[in-house]
Amino acid sequence: MRLSQMLFVTLREDPAEAEIPSHKLLIRAGYIRRIGSGIYAYLPLMWRVLTKVRQIVQEEMNATGAQECLLPQLQPAELWRESGRWDTYTQAEGIMFALKDRQERELGLGPTHEEVITTIARDMIRSYRQLPLHLYQIQTKFRDEIRPRFGLMRGREFIMKDGYSFHADEESLKKTYQDMNQAYSNMLTRCGLAFRAVEADSGAIGGSGSQEFMVLADAGEDLVLYSEDGQYAANLEKAVSIPADAEPSPFTTYEKRETPGAETIEKLCQFLKCSPTQIVKNVLYQAVYDNGMTVLVLAMLRGDQEVNEVKLQNELVRLAENYGGKTVLSLIVPDAETQQKWAVEPLPLGYIAPDISDDRIRCDKQLHPKFLRLVDKTAVELKNFVTGGQEPGYHVVGANWGEQFQLPERVVDMRKAKVGDRSIHNSNQHLQSARGIEVGHIFQLGTKYSKVMGATYTNEQGTEVPLVMGCYGVGVSRLAQAAVEQSYDKDGIIWPIAIAPYQVIISVPNIADTQQMQVAEKLYTELNQTGIETLLDDRNERAGVKFKDADLIGIPYRIVTGRSLQTGKVEVIERATHKSQELPIEEIAATIKQWLRNP
Ligand code: ATP
Ligand code: MG
Repeated sequence: MRLSQMLFVTLREDPAEAEIPSHKLLIRAGYIRRIGSGIYAYLPLMWRVLTKVRQIVQEEMNATGAQECLLPQLQPAELWRESGRWDTYTQAEGIMFALKDRQERELGLGPTHEEVITTIARDMIRSYRQLPLHLYQIQTKFRDEIRPRFGLMRGREFIMKDGYSFHADEESLKKTYQDMNQAYSNMLTRCGLAFRAVEADSGAIGGSGSQEFMVLADAGEDLVLYSEDGQYAANLEKAVSIPADAEPSPFTTYEKRETPGAETIEKLCQFLKCSPTQIVKNVLYQAVYDNGMTVLVLAMLRGDQEVNEVKLQNELVRLAENYGGKTVLSLIVPDAETQQKWAVEPLPLGYIAPDISDDRIRCDKQLHPKFLRLVDKTAVELKNFVTGGQEPGYHVVGANWGEQFQLPERVVDMRKAKVGDRSIHNSNQHLQSARGIEVGHIFQLGTKYSKVMGATYTNEQGTEVPLVMGCYGVGVSRLAQAAVEQSYDKDGIIWPIAIAPYQVIISVPNIADTQQMQVAEKLYTELNQTGIETLLDDRNERAGVKFKDADLIGIPYRIVTGRSLQTGKVEVIERATHKSQELPIEEIAATIKQWLRNP
């Protein structure tokens, strides 16, 4: 391609709309253009990158025996009502764009395709002889993200590879899951990315687990905790650990003390001269289930620990049946104003005790009459602890479970693991953290969708049983931008060779010089014929502008047909290192071919 004929517009200044380097660079270098919030046009250079990523994804998927297909983006609401996700996706999370057609039928724009694929499986898979089966597609997804940002990283319209597998049993699912684990590692390695596979939260679906593939970069929205020996790695949402030991309590007798102004753990520790590990803190949450029932939750944990709201939410979904619901629509820490809706009288925030009376909750059929009391493992072991005094300005010290307070029935792990905690696989290993960009997620779904949607098959014994499922996603457009986030310098993008839009750019310093143009044209034809994707910068611009642009767009090798022509050579510059050398014109094609093979 000739730059003179391309829609090639680069910007010298950082665009105001962009915060992170990869977003700035992709806009400056003319790869993408913002059309609306979370909506981007992929311009020709970007489309070439995306096509390469797609190709790698397709090759690795096909190698596992998965088959490509294309499912509809317009999805009838009935399918989502069958799975029970319509309300959650259109209202609670509100992530799905929903619309009505002119016949007043409701439709959603596909944010994901479990419902569609399960319908197909229900209709078409009858017998164990048809299993296992794995279908995937690469397609534009729609999600009405609350905070679209960082360009392609979190768009409202983006490209995803999503695959769904069907199995006769868990064992077969595990095998495909392993194959996917390998295929995903292969994809990311081939795309030239540094990544880490981490244990991920599977929501309340359960199943035997899920794993995320994180591209490591400071701009990543996810936090990964990992042990120094690399044996343990998990998303913070999911991570478990051994917390620091509690310090022995100095309070040997139970008494109520006045603690004015000590409504935070920090102030309380200062006032009582104690350690946060000697405190049981009681965090109040308000959960609303999908049937409209509000449940007040008292989460008790050690003073130095924080609630992991993902774990808490999962626990609440597990308990949904007790409240006549299926899922949790919202989970918040209620402020004084929100409490007015359900509290008989204002609660002593900051001073609540584990035994706060259920009489505090107003009588209302949409309000569960009792607090749901959950205690974290860290709080269970405490002796002679400090906790709220049930009235503003008071705490109790020297308290014990089974004496002053009844230990709640439900002991759960709902704390955030943190840096410095000991690892569960080996207590000599301490957890460290890194930021990551989630580019892939593989998931053992089990029978969640097949059960509710009635997707069954007849097994070898002649019994009809639900299909066992797995699902596997790659954010193709996010991955492409993540590659830039991991590889750039002050001059611009440095594409990994495998996904660079072109491999070579020939910059002609002066197009009025016939010899410069002749050699450039000759090399341009020759390289393209050899299969080396080559751009020709034949614009009527100053050499400096061309070199800057070549660096900005990040093409792995730049050839300059300049002064060295006098000795029958051209200058070749490697983008990543800026290393330059002069090579005889006739050796160029073979040499670059060699480099591309062994970069
Ligand atoms: P996140 O937690 O980042 O919102 P997710 O858990 O919702 O991601 P999945 O539903 O597992 O994501 O989707 C599969 C993949 O699609 C993700 O691993 C990610 O790479 C990509 N993806 C998800 N949401 C977006 C988005 N809004 N923009 C771009 N890519 C996305
Ligand atoms: Mg999401």
